[in-house]
Amino acid sequence: MRRFVTLLSLLFFFNAITFAQHSAVTDAASAEVAAAAVHKLSKAITFRTASDLNEEEVKYSEFLDLHAYLEGAFPALHQQLQKKVINGYSLLYTWLGTDPDLPPVLLGAHMDVVPVEEETKEDWQQQPYAGVVKDGYIWGRGAMDDKYRVIAIMEAVEQLLQQGYHPERTIYLAFGHDEEVGGTAGAGKISEYLQEQEVRLEAVFDEGLAVAKSVLPGIDEPIAFIGTAAKGGINLELKVKGEGGHSSAPPRDTPISILSAALNRLYDNPFEARMIPTTKETMELMADKMGGKYRFAMRHYGLFKGKVLKMLAKDRATDALIRTQMTPTFLESGDAYNVMPRVATAVLNIRILNGEDQHTVLKHVKKAINDERVQVEVKGVYTPPSPITTTDTWTYAALEKSIRSIFPDVALVVPALFPGSTDAKHYTSLTKNIYRFAPQVVTREDAQLVHNVDERLGVEVFLKSIAFYKTLVRNTCGDLPLQVVLQEEPILLPDVTND
Ligand SMILES: [Zn+2]
Repeated sequence: MRRFVTLLSLLFFFNAITFAQHSAVTDAASAEVAAAAVHKLSKAITFRTASDLNEEEVKYSEFLDLHAYLEGAFPALHQQLQKKVINGYSLLYTWLGTDPDLPPVLLGAHMDVVPVEEETKEDWQQQPYAGVVKDGYIWGRGAMDDKYRVIAIMEAVEQLLQQGYHPERTIYLAFGHDEEVGGTAGAGKISEYLQEQEVRLEAVFDEGLAVAKSVLPGIDEPIAFIGTAAKGGINLELKVKGEGGHSSAPPRDTPISILSAALNRLYDNPFEARMIPTTKETMELMADKMGGKYRFAMRHYGLFKGKVLKMLAKDRATDALIRTQMTPTFLESGDAYNVMPRVATAVLNIRILNGEDQHTVLKHVKKAINDERVQVEVKGVYTPPSPITTTDTWTYAALEKSIRSIFPDVALVVPALFPGSTDAKHYTSLTKNIYRFAPQVVTREDAQLVHNVDERLGVEVFLKSIAFYKTLVRNTCGDLPLQVVLQEEPILLPDVTND
């Protein structure tokens, strides 16, 4: 079981992810086309489209400038697709299919990035908004999360158009502008618009998990993880009020002691461990590959359930896959050393496992605290856990086929629970088939560059992601024979600086 733990602990590090490839898929695109595509991503990075919870900090004009840049960079796309600006700054493109009876697919990505923290500015090897291409990497904020996918999707469409491809099935390209702060104003409004048009989607393809390298002991080939479910989230504020006064003659219970006891009881009463169908499928597929006692344990899960869950609970990454997690992320009380505080407050950040909701979570928390002096209140937006996407559909098969043709050395394609949250949550009413997968090969170190200093993407990883989206479009929206050329030699491209 340890192997499961090692492997699954990687899942936790995915959010948008990364590289380590030695071959490039060029899909017959010339070095010139490849260089131009890299230049487009490098340019897109120069727009400071940082999200911020404080709206006054957001430079909205940068989004408009990015829109204008995209218009010039993808001429065929802008000529042949319908473009609609949603809520001022998000983009929705419609590529009409030849068969109006086929439900459309949606390719989603986001144009916003997380801000560059002021105190880290000097730590970057390349300036975060310079869009430098150097040493085989495209550097900067958004290179991994998520501008590369915006550009890869648009470039794939541009190349397909130039090759004379016509989809049978309508395709939406949906690019939100506030994913990093919840996506309500972007993807949320795009979804509302599609609902108003009474659109039913066949499938949504968004960011999420990825291809993980060297994770199973004894198996060198990478494994592709597709996020077919995502956890929900809620923040609960715990508040205790007291009488205040001088601290020389204190009562036995104060707001701080009452709140501390409540937090301790929550610590002692975690949510129950259980395996949702998605995680069970993940484990079964991997156990099958690993053979021996692992396969035996999963084939007789009913018998070994307790043992399996106990093993998974030992590692915090795998523990996150089998239960609702709660952790205090905020604590506040007191103004002076010798004054009894009138109030003590904590906030619990809770990640909700599929099968539960805000009511069951609230019930568990109140029961565990078991003290009416502690007021519990929901803070901010509640995100329910996602519905579970099943794997017995043709769209799952098409995605798997696309992954296998672009990443031919993957040993397994596995559905898995995505512990984070993306724009996909806004599309759940439009389709049952939501896939959270970023076409990158990932190592643990690379994954840590997401939202971090020195965010960068391998040039070849980027080129491969373009080929991936071309293939995915063909496999879901009608195929027109086109040779995918796997080129073993890396393409040599010039470095770029955007001065
Ligand atoms: Zn993202």
